[in-house]
Amino acid sequence: MSGIGTDGNSRASSFDRRIDGLDVAAYTVPTDAPEGDGTLAWTSTTIVLVRASAGGATGVGWTYGSTGCMAVIDDDLAGVVTGRDALDVTGAFDAMVKSARNSSRPGLVGYAISAVDVALWDLKARLLGLPLHKLLGSVREDVPVYGSGGFTTYDDMRLRDQLELWARDQRIPRVKIKIAESWGGREGRDLARMRLCRETIGPDTELYVDANGGYTAKQAVRVMAAAQDLDVRWLEEPVSSDDLAGLREVRREVRADVAAGEYGHDLVYFRRMCEAQAVDCLQADASRCGGITEWLRVAAVAAAYGLEISAHCAPHLHLHAAAAIPNLRHLEWFHDHVRIEGMFFDGTVDPTGGALRPDPTRPGHGLCVRDADIEAYRVR
Ligand SMILES: [Mg+2]
Repeated sequence: MSGIGTDGNSRASSFDRRIDGLDVAAYTVPTDAPEGDGTLAWTSTTIVLVRASAGGATGVGWTYGSTGCMAVIDDDLAGVVTGRDALDVTGAFDAMVKSARNSSRPGLVGYAISAVDVALWDLKARLLGLPLHKLLGSVREDVPVYGSGGFTTYDDMRLRDQLELWARDQRIPRVKIKIAESWGGREGRDLARMRLCRETIGPDTELYVDANGGYTAKQAVRVMAAAQDLDVRWLEEPVSSDDLAGLREVRREVRADVAAGEYGHDLVYFRRMCEAQAVDCLQADASRCGGITEWLRVAAVAAAYGLEISAHCAPHLHLHAAAAIPNLRHLEWFHDHVRIEGMFFDGTVDPTGGALRPDPTRPGHGLCVRDADIEAYRVR
């Protein structure tokens, strides 16, 4: 029987909207050249893709992480969300978090919850026939981006080509390169690459650097002093993001904004980082911290401390949520993930001019999986 009940809900449609289940697959994609930063190097990236279906619609979410996420989704999370009303995403998120108590949320469990949460938001928007940013409540049409890559493994020519693509061809007004090569063991090369970057992009494009936790606090301050004429605007993870006192120390001594937060897994993590006055801009990654549900709350935590938030990696996963928060700084147009998302999805967006625009004519996050094209990368 259909119709509106005394509680205001449509009982029949609520039944039809029950989540049928989750489908999960993993794909490993070789990089287009070896990639590395101050503290890690890699030649491939694994994406774990989740589909959630209900009422004849399917939502898609993903995370970049180990295939270990799949066991968490299949064995634990699928049973928690299956049968729930697909419109109650926050309820499903809360149930997933509570169910994960004994397996511990930081790390792969958090990545798995994130991928499912994103699939559920996409599913809800598709069931309602709305673009996700409209469902969340949009506050802006343009989402600013910065070009991100500049791996320590690149030679000068490859670095220059990448910087010219962003700054000249795509007119993105901010770019980021990796520094602190070999855990801070190659300061001379770091400085030479920063100088090459400034020479390539000219004076009007903002220069960002990311040390991935590879320096000590005093070392980071010294390197920034040596680079003073290069006008670096953003210094990411000069020291480990677990070293809140170290971040704060660096922040006091450098002109660049200090940023961190990419490994944050819950609200308490981000509150501690803000409380310690460790950053000028908070970063958070919706593919790690608990999906769109938690990412929006992290933005609220940042706002309570008078901070802006920057979306870390996975640009198409963040786009609609980034359009829906008032205190957004920008979104990271990360080379590795830009490439993979372009291979995996139809409906990707163009950063030319330095901003992304969610498509108001496509429901959900607007992406469709290119199944036939990606099958060759499937590992599970
Ligand atoms: Mg980083």
